[in-house]
Formats: sequence, C-alpha cells, structure tokens
Amino acid sequence: MKQHPYQVVITDCDHGSIEEEKEELSPIGAELVLAQVREEEEVIRACKDADGLLNQYALLTRRVFEHLPKCKVVARYGVGVDSVDLKAATDLGIIVANVPDYCIDEVSDHAIALILSLMRKTAFFNAKVKSGQWDFHSGIPIHRIRGKTLGLIGSGKIGLEVAKKLSSFGVRVIAFDPYLKTNPQGIELKNFDAVLKESDFISIHCPLNDSTRHLIGEKEFKKMPKKPILINTSRGPIIDEKALIQALQEGLITGAGLDVLEKEPPDSVNPMLAMENVILSPHVGFYSEESISELKRRTAKNVSDVLMGRWPGSVVNQEVKGKTRAPMSG
Ligand code: NAD
Repeated sequence: MKQHPYQVVITDCDHGSIEEEKEELSPIGAELVLAQVREEEEVIRACKDADGLLNQYALLTRRVFEHLPKCKVVARYGVGVDSVDLKAATDLGIIVANVPDYCIDEVSDHAIALILSLMRKTAFFNAKVKSGQWDFHSGIPIHRIRGKTLGLIGSGKIGLEVAKKLSSFGVRVIAFDPYLKTNPQGIELKNFDAVLKESDFISIHCPLNDSTRHLIGEKEFKKMPKKPILINTSRGPIIDEKALIQALQEGLITGAGLDVLEKEPPDSVNPMLAMENVILSPHVGFYSEESISELKRRTAKNVSDVLMGRWPGSVVNQEVKGKTRAPMSG
C-alpha cells in the first residue's frame, strides 16, 4: 500500500468537487480525506491523525485541538475564522490561515451591478415589460450617472475596487474610512456626515463589528439631502433595517440594493419584498465559478505551504510565530 507522508482532512465543505484541493496537495504526497463532519466527537475521530485541516463550518474547539497531536495547520475556506478557537490553536502551535481576498472582483462587480440597475432601472423595466407594459414613462425620472458622487463607507480591498471601476463612468468618489492612513488615489477622504450629505449613491464596504452595527439608522437617513441610492454588499446589520424600511417609505432615499440583510433569508412579510425601488440578492456577492475555484486552491495551498515549511499567504494568528509545531523557514 502506498505510504503518504502527510494526511490532510477536510472537516466539512459545502462545495461539490474537491479537485482543486487534490491538485494542490497531491504534489507533496498528501493523502486527502473528505470527512464531512460537524460534531465535536466526529471531528476528533476523523482528524486525529491529520497533519493539516481544511475547514468550513465545523467548530474547531480547544478540546478538538487537544486531541489532534499531529495537526500543524488549519486553513479556513474564506475570510472569517469564527469556527476556530484561535487562542487554543496558538497555544498549541497550530497555524491558522485564511483567504481574505478571493472575491474582490465579484463583490465589487455586484455592488456596481446594483448601482447601475437602480440608476438605469433595468430590474424595474424588466418586470414591467414582462407584465405587458412597453412604456418607459413608468420609469421617469432617470438621471445621468456621469457627474454623480459615490460615497464609500469603508474603503478597503472591495471599496477601492468599486471606486476604481465606477470612476470610469465619470463618477466622483468620496469615502469615509477612519482607519485609512493615506488618501487612496482618486478618492477624497471625508468625515462620515460629509459622505451622507454629498453622496448620490452610498455603498457600504466596512466590516460588521460593535462600532459598525446599525451605523446607518434613523438619524443618518435624515442627513442625506440628495436622497441617495443605498447599496449594501457587506453585512446586513450595518444598516438598521427598520429605519431603512421607514426611510424608503418616506422617500428619504431613492432606492436600495441589498445583497445582505439583517435577517437572511427575509421574512415573507418584509415590506422591501414588494418595493419596486429595492433590489435584493441572496448574499451571493462572493460567488462566481472562478472565485470558488480560487478559494479552494488557495485554501489547500495554505496547508501545503505549512507542511513544506513555508509561511502561507495569510496567517490569522500571527502570535503563533516562534512556537509552531511545523518547522518553518524564516
Ligand atoms: P477590508 O478589510 O479590505 O476593508 C474594510 C475597510 O473598512 C477597511 O479599510 C477598514 O479600515 C474600514 N472600516 C473599518 N471600520 C470602519 C468604520 N467604522 N467605518 C468605515 N470604515 C471602516 O475588507 P474587504 O475585503 O474590502 O471586505 C469588506 C466587507 O465585505 C467584509 O467585511 C465583508 O463583510 C464583506 N464581504 C461580503 C461578501 C458578500 O458575499 N456579500 C463577500 C466578501 C466580503
């Protein structure tokens, strides 16, 4: 029987094929096992001999790690590492890696698709034409995009990409981002209230945390004299949804394009489901065939890098440096 120098276990994943992972790990001779386990005991049983883990949702607790004596690396599919007890991993010398940038193009394209669709009213007209109304007057007024102001809340990887792409439409870009030290090219950094006041479209690209939960609420909607279009492809709870619905009903904003909601999926009685000036999508911004393929490949590469003694592209628990189980170079 063929001996493998390493065993790598996928605890669980919701994608069909694991071809990319195999392609990435077979050159180092790793045996790849797809376990599809979620419960703590099952995870321990499936992973007890693993040198590395790929993980989606299964909780990797301190107890799990304490039962995995050979495990040197956990690579999480995607950005978030909520499923991993980072402190326990660090204490035990296990490197935790993620892939923070596999869908920048997809999310930025999605935000722009929502802006363009609301500005040109394509989703609105599509519904009208299919219900037998061939008359553009139902969509009046439509305004020219060139010359309008896009306000970004959060100007990191995705926000900057939206800015870059939408600039070619002749749009001025302003941004509020309290952590940006330098002014990114072509973007005017402003304070929060100035972005609310000056923007024709506001697009949210900051993370959800204690300081951004309900960042946009009743008070903020009253500070938007240009009645902007509001786009959220980040996380639902950044907008106070009750206040948003009221703002839409009172005409304080022109429309909303939302890939994320406070409650996903929305209740069937959510009034936004019946609003013609609201476009909803089911938290799909991250997805394309290419982004998922890239995610799978890069997650597996994070494991093969560590097993070969190389630091992976993105290490979440930097404090593990100096006490890793894997012998690392550099
Ligand atoms: P990033 O870390 O590169 O950028 C986030 C930016 O937000 C940073 O520049 C940060 O300084 C800024 N920020 C932090 N707190 C802020 C605040 N209070 N106000 C304004 N700005 C603030 O992240 P990214 O890769 O650009 O992703 C942005 C968000 O997009 C993620 O946090 C995630 O929630 C969301 N996202 C959604 C999908 C989807 O499928 N819809 C997919 C990937 C990411």
